[in-house]
Amino acid sequence: MHPILDPGPAILADATEVVSYPPNGPLDEESIRQAVEGCVGVVSQLMDPIRELVLSTPGLKIVSNVAVGFDNIDIAAANAYNVMVTNTPGVLDDSTADFAFALLMATARRVVEGDHYLRSGYFRGWAIDMMLGTDVFGATLGIIGIGRIGRGLAHRAKGFNMRVLYYDPKSPLSRDDEIQLGATRTDLGRLLAESDFVSVHVPLLPDTHHMISTAQFEQMRRSGILINTSRGPVVDEAALVEALNTRKIAGAGLDVFEREPAVHPGLIALPNVVLAPHIASATVRTRSEMSAMAARNVATAVRGGRPPNLLNPGVAR
Ligand code: NAD
Repeated sequence: MHPILDPGPAILADATEVVSYPPNGPLDEESIRQAVEGCVGVVSQLMDPIRELVLSTPGLKIVSNVAVGFDNIDIAAANAYNVMVTNTPGVLDDSTADFAFALLMATARRVVEGDHYLRSGYFRGWAIDMMLGTDVFGATLGIIGIGRIGRGLAHRAKGFNMRVLYYDPKSPLSRDDEIQLGATRTDLGRLLAESDFVSVHVPLLPDTHHMISTAQFEQMRRSGILINTSRGPVVDEAALVEALNTRKIAGAGLDVFEREPAVHPGLIALPNVVLAPHIASATVRTRSEMSAMAARNVATAVRGGRPPNLLNPGVAR
């Protein structure tokens, strides 16, 4: 396993012998396969490619991802090799929704740019036209994917008196939840056209890859701001850079990138983009709970049980 936070290591040590993944070791499939040889379980992270080469390791029973997203794992191959796959849903919802809202606020009100401006010695006193931003209170927020984290964002938006639109044809809210969250279901085109802020909360799947690309930026408002805390490849990064450079949209707040840890150089150059190093769930409480949850999933499987967060129940024995 990679290092996880307390109380995760103690939960694992109680259940089985633990072998650590070499620190700073490469994360390609071959190295992971070598590290996993002889193990019954793997505690994996979102940057670990867990595909057939790893999943076919003899004796492997469980892959426990320390993340809610599991696009790094080939579930079909896990099923084929009878390997259980688990994730850590729920415990990171609030931290991630908080961070999406933090990115929204920081981008709208130019917080990072202002900090840099001041530290660089440019602040010479109040000026009526200095660092003008976009209002958040009372603005329209479009949420793409109204699952656990999308709902959390809608909940926060209520406190800012925002009009909330959402697009989620696979799992729309019940009428009661729509009323409670003050969220209106719509199609993607209307959401993009009417929102001041568009925040993406879908999993990375074949049909969400590059879901936001040139055509979608063309439908957004020129004053619109894109927030992405889901997965980098959901947004076409080259198209985003082009949309920002040609002022099709006004800004972006991003926690995730297409080829992490690489970031498109066009984004680095832009002051109207707030960039974060994939830290939306990074609070002490949340990361500890994710670690404990991942460890409990392994411990349960090792003891012959059905892990609580099993993603592929067909393989459980
Ligand atoms: P969830 O499964 O509860 O919600 C996802 C929602 O997206 C569902 O309601 C689903 O119906 C909807 N959806 C799926 N495909 C769609 C499509 N094509 N169009 C519109 N909606 C679609 O997941 P969650 O717990 O809210 O997490 C969402 C994603 O956020 C995760 O899959 C993960 O990749 C990402 N995430 C990132 C961080 C981070 O650190 N930046 C932290 C947590 C989660």
